[in-house]
Amino acid sequence: MYFSQLNDIILKLTDQTTVKVLNVLLEHKEIIDEEMVNILNEEIEQSQKDLSEDEEERISRIALKEVRKSLYKLNERSLARYRRVRDKETGYFVYYWSPILERIFDLIINRRKLSIKKLRQRLDYEQRNLLYVCDEGHTPVTFSDAFELGFICTTCGEELSQKDNENTIKFLKRKIKELDEEVKTGLEELDNLAELMEKPFQKK
Ligand SMILES: [Zn+2]
Repeated sequence: MYFSQLNDIILKLTDQTTVKVLNVLLEHKEIIDEEMVNILNEEIEQSQKDLSEDEEERISRIALKEVRKSLYKLNERSLARYRRVRDKETGYFVYYWSPILERIFDLIINRRKLSIKKLRQRLDYEQRNLLYVCDEGHTPVTFSDAFELGFICTTCGEELSQKDNENTIKFLKRKIKELDEEVKTGLEELDNLAELMEKPFQKK
């Protein structure tokens, strides 16, 4: 499945609680907010049990209000939606929340594409420029920069010599290939979302 790195991406956009909330949504596909609070608090209690007695770092229970706030944040970013059903007995509305997978996939795929673009630029640079670096490996520079510096490292004053960047080039190529594959898989899974919704989500 496709959700490795999702947590990092969401964390950059929101906060830790929202990351947890999204993970519960992905796991349960459709869930009411109160049930979600129970699940998150059970997780917290479980993690507290594993702490030894002198580790007094108590995490407080999560409140319904906080969970709702996170759900609204996800909703604002079109990453989660709800359907509202009136409870026949109480007359109150019940909100069933679910993740918007199309958007989540888009988000991840776009991030991957951005990384690929950056890696390609770096690869291009590495392939076009022989780099010069000191023995300590401080900031590598191009030949013309090294020439201007008199082949002396600006950080440590040691001599600059030509750097073998074959390994860097190999690494970049491998990374680009990996990400290309991931984008391909992501686009395929995006085409089969209905099927995906029937299976439990698994994070890498
Ligand atoms: Zn140096």
